[in-house]
Amino acid sequence: MDDFNPATTQKIASIPRSGKSEVEAAVKAAELAFPAWAVETVENRAAWLNKIADALESRSEEIAALESMDTGKPITLARNVDAARSVANFRFFAEQVVKMQDKKFPMDDAENNVIQKPVGIAGLITPWNLPLYLLSWKIAPALAMGNTVVAKPSELTPLTADLLAKVLVEVGLPAGVVNIVHGLGSEVGQAIVEHPEIKLISFTGGTATGKLVAATAAPMFKKLSLELGGKNASIVFADADMQNTVAGVARSAFLNQGQVCLCGSRILVERKIHDEFVQMLCEHVGEMVIGDPSNEETQLGSLISQEHRQKVESYIALAEQEGGVLIHGGERPELEGELAAGAYLQPTIVTGLDSESRCSTEEIFGPVVVVHPFDSEEEAVVMANATEYGLAGSVWSSDIAKAGRVAEAIDSGMVWINCWLHRDLRVPFGGTKNSGVGREGGEWSLAFFSEAQNICIKR
Ligand code: NAD
Repeated sequence: MDDFNPATTQKIASIPRSGKSEVEAAVKAAELAFPAWAVETVENRAAWLNKIADALESRSEEIAALESMDTGKPITLARNVDAARSVANFRFFAEQVVKMQDKKFPMDDAENNVIQKPVGIAGLITPWNLPLYLLSWKIAPALAMGNTVVAKPSELTPLTADLLAKVLVEVGLPAGVVNIVHGLGSEVGQAIVEHPEIKLISFTGGTATGKLVAATAAPMFKKLSLELGGKNASIVFADADMQNTVAGVARSAFLNQGQVCLCGSRILVERKIHDEFVQMLCEHVGEMVIGDPSNEETQLGSLISQEHRQKVESYIALAEQEGGVLIHGGERPELEGELAAGAYLQPTIVTGLDSESRCSTEEIFGPVVVVHPFDSEEEAVVMANATEYGLAGSVWSSDIAKAGRVAEAIDSGMVWINCWLHRDLRVPFGGTKNSGVGREGGEWSLAFFSEAQNICIKR
């Protein structure tokens, strides 16, 4: 299969279009490797993770360049977020797993010891927006807990998964512990989810795909973690620090061209500051540099593909049909040379829509945000919750008690107050409603990638 740079539409690689037989071979290799890997000491497995982190770190610049080329994202973002986090994920879980302790529950006449055992072969499926970042977020805890892995990266962004495979060979990780299978979701992804020997599925991707994955895996009683789509609200109160809030809300709206599941794509603003806030937001966004992802100055790169841009543009057309007003962007920027063919789109801000309109409640996953005014705390919460998603959100106010009340009332897995995407890897990550099932992160990942067994000893 061909792999393209979406910023230029040039072909950059060919990848195998694997199918059931390659998944079968990967499972066989993972099965053979499992007994030895599962009985490795925790310290040894942590040492392997640190070795992988060191090897990735020495290739950080290469990872950033590949990720930027494969996704169209700015090189600075690929360097500071994707490359850095991929290394950090391995280091973090190496540290976490050695700190983990078996739990004990004493009784008058007996002792309960709860131990965490490996599940077996873990099937890991990841999307294109944060390729190695999300793959390493799953591989590291899966390995730390003694599982072997069959992983499938997105067919749109296979390059850093391929680099990881090479790094694993270079550092000498035993063969079969990690197996990466490239190809289409409907073929390789589906074969992984269906395979009876794969006992656990960790899936990150769209909600519609998550439904298919759940429908296939549930009758086999696989352990299942689903990290799905989002339509997250940024709630701005009149008492917020305007400068900081405008910058924070703009970053939350447009980071990675709005292609982050956590992006704040619905901006709810207290009516008394609505017009002023919107004007400041437009000015701020108007200064964002859009263009060549390899340029250090670029803040907004290309979307993932022409097809995806068309989908995003169809929402812009829908917003206009639904009575929305495009107060910023909405067009393809005019770029020169080979970039002219890229999947670029201006950062777009829409006002005047009903807060329950499709553009305000469906995931667009691009550089398009809607802004709505609200009059009271209660109304802001109702509007924030009026979507089938429940992944994240942010609240901006100088009244921390009020912000805390609103945060608790939002039906989502994560809320930031006066910041966004300020990540501590120890905290739970995941969503409610159609944003998924389960939590990953810190001890939640270690619990998910293992089976708890209680051993009760009668004295
Ligand atoms: P997608 O659902 O199209 O694909 C995700 C992965 O699933 C890909 O590797 C794909 O090949 C595979 N796949 C497709 N069909 C499959 C099937 N039938 N069985 C098994 N695997 C299959 O999603 P995408 O377009 O790559 O990513 C964007 C979506 O991911 C957005 O909805 C975004 O919100 C979501 N996302 C969620 C999180 C989170 O943590 N909640 C993080 C990043 C992205």
